[in-house]
Amino acid sequence: MIMVSACLAGINCKYNGENNYCPSLCARLASHPHFLVCPETLGCLPIPRMPAEIYGGDGDDVLDGRARVITSQGDDVTNAFIQGARACWELARLNRVSLAILKSNSPSCGCGRIYDGSFSRRLRPGDGVAAALLRRNGVKIISEKDFQQIGYNSK
Ligand code: SF4
Repeated sequence: MIMVSACLAGINCKYNGENNYCPSLCARLASHPHFLVCPETLGCLPIPRMPAEIYGGDGDDVLDGRARVITSQGDDVTNAFIQGARACWELARLNRVSLAILKSNSPSCGCGRIYDGSFSRRLRPGDGVAAALLRRNGVKIISEKDFQQIGYNSK
């Protein structure tokens, strides 16, 4: 079973009420069992909402209490991000997810690279909060860009 960031499938759950629809990814996923999640809305954040980035580290640092998730207006939404990440992991566990295809660069879903907390579109190494929790628990995580480059064989 594959878990997929909902915005990649055209769900309007992005902070600005829009999506990151990726038609080529959706076409390739059609032959694989999968379901959609949005960690930030699972953390009870509204749509639309203020954009947020991890300040002072990456998703692992947030999970370990060394960094916070802050909106562009300065509000601390760390607890909502952690709640959403835990909900995501619970769904992954219950559904025996073997792979999560997650939106690149996001403070929740980013895999390997995320925005650096300056709201300037600059990237830094690290996973988003939900991605980090999934990785910690043994779920293979990959961005939509990497999935399209290397593919996936579910057999
Ligand atoms: S939390 Fe993930 S699924 Fe939700 S809008 Fe952000 S990138 Fe997409």
